[in-house]
Amino acid sequence: MSSPAFPHPPHDGRDGDDSAVEQLRVQAELLLEQAAELEVLNEEIAGAAARLQGLVDSALDAVVVTDSSSRVLEWNHHAETLFGWTEAEVRGRTLGETIIPHRFRQAHDQGVRRYLETGEGPILNRRIEISALRRDGREFPVELTVAAARWGSEVVFTSFIRDITDRKQAEAHLAAQYAVTRVLAETSTADDAVPRVLQALCQTLGWELGIFWAEDADGVLCAKASWGVPEVVGRGFETASEGMRLARGQGLPGRVWEHAAAEWIPDVTRHPDFPRREAAAALGLCAAFAFPVAIGREFLGVMEFFNRRPVEPGPGLLSSMSAMGSDIGQFLKRKQAEEAVRVREEEQRFFAGVSATLAESTPDFAETLRRLARLAVPFLADRCGIYLAGGDGELRLAHCAQGNAADEPPAADAVPVPPGHPLREVMRTGEPLVIPATSGVAGGESRVVVPLRARGRTLGALTLTAGPERRPYEARDATAALEFAGRAALAVDNARLFAQVEEADRAKSEFLATMSHELRTPLNAIQGYTNLLEAGVPEPLSEPVLQYVRRVGLSARHLGQLIEEILAYSRLEAGRETVSAAQVDVGEVVREVEAIVEPLAREKGLRLMVNATDPSPPLRTDPRKLRQILLNLLGNAIKFTDEGEIVFTTRPEGGDVLFCVRDTGIGIPAEHLEQIFEPFWQVEQGSTRIAQGTGLGLSVSRRLAHLMGGTLQAESSPGSGSTFILRLPLAPP
Ligand code: ADP
Repeated sequence: MSSPAFPHPPHDGRDGDDSAVEQLRVQAELLLEQAAELEVLNEEIAGAAARLQGLVDSALDAVVVTDSSSRVLEWNHHAETLFGWTEAEVRGRTLGETIIPHRFRQAHDQGVRRYLETGEGPILNRRIEISALRRDGREFPVELTVAAARWGSEVVFTSFIRDITDRKQAEAHLAAQYAVTRVLAETSTADDAVPRVLQALCQTLGWELGIFWAEDADGVLCAKASWGVPEVVGRGFETASEGMRLARGQGLPGRVWEHAAAEWIPDVTRHPDFPRREAAAALGLCAAFAFPVAIGREFLGVMEFFNRRPVEPGPGLLSSMSAMGSDIGQFLKRKQAEEAVRVREEEQRFFAGVSATLAESTPDFAETLRRLARLAVPFLADRCGIYLAGGDGELRLAHCAQGNAADEPPAADAVPVPPGHPLREVMRTGEPLVIPATSGVAGGESRVVVPLRARGRTLGALTLTAGPERRPYEARDATAALEFAGRAALAVDNARLFAQVEEADRAKSEFLATMSHELRTPLNAIQGYTNLLEAGVPEPLSEPVLQYVRRVGLSARHLGQLIEEILAYSRLEAGRETVSAAQVDVGEVVREVEAIVEPLAREKGLRLMVNATDPSPPLRTDPRKLRQILLNLLGNAIKFTDEGEIVFTTRPEGGDVLFCVRDTGIGIPAEHLEQIFEPFWQVEQGSTRIAQGTGLGLSVSRRLAHLMGGTLQAESSPGSGSTFILRLPLAPP
């Protein structure tokens, strides 16, 4: 206890006065004591206030104290650095005028009013994340805690505000990385993946529009895919981008390509090299950011992003995006390789199918064209036109196939392709032509025109058209088109040759039939008159004259036989030969032909041995044709045998009857055993030939045998004679 401030006065003995004085003294002492305590308290309060200020000043957060009308009362040092306003500047201003973004101001005012009226403040004393505004107008994310204190009728709000830009960005980068990884893991093709990657990056990093650029066949960057929020999509900027062809170093994507590094533009409308400035300004686009999609030095494309607000790239964005660019690059590369393999496999399957279809070739020329055009659609094209050069050298549309629509039939009066048309160019150079979608072809179509060349001749050209739904043709598409055109040209040429051969064949048969008929009439007259002369009509002839007449008769018969062969051949060729089957007595037929050939054999000094089965089997066949074949075989046997014998036998075997003609003649080399059955074919061709003939006999015989349901075979070896075996079924098929 401290010593009294007022010492006791000396005692004078007056008790009444004394006690009053004493009381005063006590009170004075009390007052003094209280004053001292107050002073101590004051000091403590001042100390506490100073400590509090120090605390507020040294706090890591911005601390802002406001009154009930949101006017700033306190603004610590951190608030100054965070928001860019000094305490002096901000004091007396409202939060709405300074740090609350415009779009939140109304909500803020309502919240304050509600608290003042009801005491309810749902956001009080809690940490919330919200956007705040810097003095320069840029927004940034903050963590905010607001406490309210009532002071009589006064209310004071204290806000603790922390900049969480870094944390938010780190979170966003992680989210972006995760989202992109997911997209890459879930999508199977590059075409599907790219727009989804753009979307994932826009949504996680807060961009409004993303565009992917990749190098085109002609070495410039083209916009390949895009994604945007509804507010910016379809408002002209993507179209402006799609129309761009950016060279290396040109525009934002071109620079990112050239420098292989990410780039950020705070405001594209003020940038000196931003070719789409007008379209960007029209849409209100402001900030842009682009990064390369690449694996090391291998460039695969550029991803470009836009925002209508002046957002900042933030720390770590560039490095995190370059890692992302590499991931996306790896994916694209892998998909490109897979795609190439898939396309190649599909192409191989397609061409195998083409070959198979064309192998079942039809002699019908129009049908071949139809099949070809149909094959190309839809695998190679949405429309396929086949143009052929006519006899006048003009190129005309011969056939066109399109989607599911009915084929365009070959127009008989098709107009020739006009001068200057790409088809003419292809015909002239023989080189394929790729006409890209941007070249003014109607409806965004692209085309490949390739020549149809077969056996060294250009027959015409083929056009493949890709509609707006299909990937536009590029230079590389010419390879598959050429491969297809090569096969198509061969099929067209084959069909054309086939048609020509058929026509020639028909003309030949017609010619032969007419000729033979015309020859037969005078020959009949010759034969008729020689017969009369030989018979001594009108008068008997002297022996030397008779011999001459007999020779004339023999030659006429031979000539008649040749004409019969030619006629039979042309009937067979024309498909007019028919079988008229009847019950045939084999023995009788054998005797008939024996009677005819016996004098010829005898004349050559050859023995003719005939051995027919007895009883003869019940054969049902065409007797005229059977006789013709047997006479031919026996005639040949005599013709090609100079000495020895001819053995003619018949016997049943299984359900057939066999007729064998064996000779001891010159024989036939093994390599010719099948050729002798070809029309006009003779073993010894040309002038060295001894025996006469047309080379038609065996060919006609074998075809007649087939017609009758049988076969005709030859067995021989040179020097040891030949055997011809005719096998006929007991009844025709
Ligand atoms: P052609 O007898 O009128 O020449 P063929 O079609 O009957 O015509 O015969 C074709 C060819 O087959 C003959 O030219 C001949 O070279 C050969 N050939 C046919 N029969 C015999 C045979 N018995 N011996 C040897 N060669 C034969």
